[in-house]
Amino acid sequence: MTTDACRTCPLDTDKIRADFPILAKTLHDGVPLTYLDNAATTQRPRQVIQAMVETYEHHYANVHRGIHWLSDQSTDLYEDAREKVRTFINASAREEVIFTTGTTGAINLVARSWGDANLGPGDEILLTEMEHHSNLVPWHQLAERTGAKVVAVPVTDDGKLDLESFDRLLTERTRMVAVTAVSNVLGTINPIEQIVAKAHVAGALVLIDGAQSVPHRAIDVEALGADFLAFSGHKMMGPSGVGVLWGKRELLEAMPPFLGGGSMIRRVRLDGFEPADLPAKFEAGTPPIVPAIGLGAAIDYLGAIGLGAVAQHEHDLTVYAHRVLGELGTLRFFGPPPEEKSGIVSFVFENNRPHAHDIAQLLDRHGVAVRAGHHCAMPLHKRFNVNATARASFYLYNTREEVDRLAEALTQVQQVFRRRR
Ligand code: PLP
Repeated sequence: MTTDACRTCPLDTDKIRADFPILAKTLHDGVPLTYLDNAATTQRPRQVIQAMVETYEHHYANVHRGIHWLSDQSTDLYEDAREKVRTFINASAREEVIFTTGTTGAINLVARSWGDANLGPGDEILLTEMEHHSNLVPWHQLAERTGAKVVAVPVTDDGKLDLESFDRLLTERTRMVAVTAVSNVLGTINPIEQIVAKAHVAGALVLIDGAQSVPHRAIDVEALGADFLAFSGHKMMGPSGVGVLWGKRELLEAMPPFLGGGSMIRRVRLDGFEPADLPAKFEAGTPPIVPAIGLGAAIDYLGAIGLGAVAQHEHDLTVYAHRVLGELGTLRFFGPPPEEKSGIVSFVFENNRPHAHDIAQLLDRHGVAVRAGHHCAMPLHKRFNVNATARASFYLYNTREEVDRLAEALTQVQQVFRRRR
């Protein structure tokens, strides 16, 4: 197969790939690694790895506490990283940026802190059928604790939110709308501006799960007007173990602390405590110091390339992937048309043979890394009457040649299974 060159692609992928040591790896028999599992986690460039090594080798101490030179350096780097996040999402104040363990940690923080303080029987949390379990289970747990109810907006056959149902289900009982900006299975890009505007008219708050959108397309929280945004460092070339909760200052200020411990207090007595100001109030214990600094370096890297170019590059790969994979003639794709979605391509073979898990295992023999399973979205898979899909997902370092490798490997998978039957 000869690769159809992309004439309008904005990125120099050869140059970019040279920054990622892991992408040069070969597997068994010299087979090159084709890493197409970016929705699960991305790889990191040397610049991010180096920023972390540099911190450990030269600037590492605990933050905020020590009155010594090294602690000051570490604190400055950690707070610089917060400032980089603030600029990246255009938040109005650094106090609105809370470092968490990831998207999951951020959503749990809101469900526990805001949810426990504000919800009770008769209240509703409106989410969608396409949510990741991270944006479902914390709300179920909240409902169990408070007597509030979880309501879900259905997904249409072409993988979009059913907006008529959204309008119907959004009522005066809705207190929180929790929705993903981009589906991690379908690649659907949800109309979050419209959702925020309608939710606010109804008097509800909005939490945006940005795990699959913040790494790939620019977001401006000020312009969007949402109330909370959650995302993860490891999905945007940063390290694992760090993520972000952004929230509107007045909401965060009114919320009680979630975790208790060191750093999050102003004063502690034997009979009680006073919480610290933002952002420390929500950062109990020693925070993910070096991971946050790594995330700051990843933001620098993304900023130098530009999210507009990243989104355009991924769009090209997605449209190309649908074209070449569609030529196999035996795949069922999930989600909206490729022109309308993010860089995520989920599929099964018709009649589900071979099964998604077998697809992923056989692709692995060709060095192609994709994910198979329910991708932490069981209700969505049930909606489409499958228990697993195979998912290829792209990032700025992927190429059309890699998509061709996926297509060639899938052709061979198909042949192996035809012979077996
Ligand atoms: N939300 C979405 C849409 C995701 O895709 C993921 C991870 O795959 C998460 C939330 C959870 O992210 P993390 O595991 O980094 O907390």
